[in-house]
Amino acid sequence: MNIEKDLQVFCYQFMEKMGWKPFPVNRVKVSKMARYKGLCITEDCESVYIILSEITNDSNKDFFATLIHELIHAHLLINKKVFQHHKHGKRFKQEAKKVQKKTKGFYTIKEIV
Ligand SMILES: [Zn+2]
Repeated sequence: MNIEKDLQVFCYQFMEKMGWKPFPVNRVKVSKMARYKGLCITEDCESVYIILSEITNDSNKDFFATLIHELIHAHLLINKKVFQHHKHGKRFKQEAKKVQKKTKGFYTIKEIV
């Protein structure tokens, strides 16, 4: 079983569910980083590379919520061209609320980097 591949597949299913224009998810990497729960890297602003921490995400739910959180960042950057100084500003909260509704409360906004 390849968890990283499954998480990547989840990303595309999630984008479809949300009705977002799909963007390439180059990789979802599970790492031992301890500082962040998740990171979203969009070097070319067209595709994303997501890193999730196996240390700070301590439940399955946590894991998927963090992945969704990072996908919101990527969606704002890639599809909406929103570049914010405060990463969890007004536009982020707007998108997060839509996701919360669509996922029936599975995802709730959390201050994750
Ligand atoms: Zn964040």
